[in-house]
Amino acid sequence: MKTFYSEHFKLKEIADGIFAAIDSGRGALGNAGIIDMGGFTVVVDTMMTLQAAADLKSAAQALIGKPIKYVATTHCHGDHVRGNQLFDEAAIISTPSTYEAMKERIMPQVKMQIENESAYLSMLTGQLETEKNEEKRSELRSSITLVEEIAKTIHDFSLRLPDVTFEDKLTIAGSTRTLELLHFGSAHSISDTVVWLPDDKVVFAGDLLFVESFPSFQEGNYRRWNRVLDELNKLPFTCAVPGHGGVGGKEDIQHLKELIEHMIQAGDAISAESAAEQLLIPDKFAKWSAQSLFFRNVKKVFNDRQPDK
Ligand SMILES: [Zn+2]
Repeated sequence: MKTFYSEHFKLKEIADGIFAAIDSGRGALGNAGIIDMGGFTVVVDTMMTLQAAADLKSAAQALIGKPIKYVATTHCHGDHVRGNQLFDEAAIISTPSTYEAMKERIMPQVKMQIENESAYLSMLTGQLETEKNEEKRSELRSSITLVEEIAKTIHDFSLRLPDVTFEDKLTIAGSTRTLELLHFGSAHSISDTVVWLPDDKVVFAGDLLFVESFPSFQEGNYRRWNRVLDELNKLPFTCAVPGHGGVGGKEDIQHLKELIEHMIQAGDAISAESAAEQLLIPDKFAKWSAQSLFFRNVKKVFNDRQPDK
């Protein structure tokens, strides 16, 4: 079997010629996919940093060795699209809303990161010096690594927007398998798409699915998210690649739904933002990563209820 090593992700072959690239905590941040369609390759998302994206491209060449004809974009967030510029021969595909969001937001985000990089890094380092809680220390260490990885190549970043947009569904037919991009509307982001491989019963779910990692409510429509997950669950998949966390399946949809419901109920129940800090993460989710998002999400739900907002 052909292999490829990257410090940015771990590759997992989930079906013959279908690889999940799972973030290993060094600047990829989001997961990605590599799919052998027969005569060409499709890449799903392009990760956060150019060094991770360069490895993703090399992995596609080493494992499959066919032209990368398309990049399928699950949503507009930087950790799924910022490697786009390296896939210069591929047509990048997204929904129109994802295209618009990328056009509006990515360059200002990059500019802000460049401006705030050193202040942010010293803030994180300072917090790490005084933080006693092991869970929080490990999250701070991950954030520091991420900021350092981003800093390595951010000055070489250029915005590469999608070339092709579609509204609801787009099918790509290869000689050995068919792939569908299915748009589910707004849940985690303003526009969430999955990549569905009906012949293989594999879905690349983007950030509609988080496996053992807290999801983010900061954008999108979290009150709609569980309905979207019910829709997604109608696909007869046996394997689901999340945007964050390891490869999962149907049971992971249920775990995430439970967590989303719990955070919404908690945010609806508290009477002050500060009360979120007193909440306990349910035992079932105590080992999930990015725990600070639990509190941020509950606060967001609370703040969204405030009439003056
Ligand atoms: Zn996202």
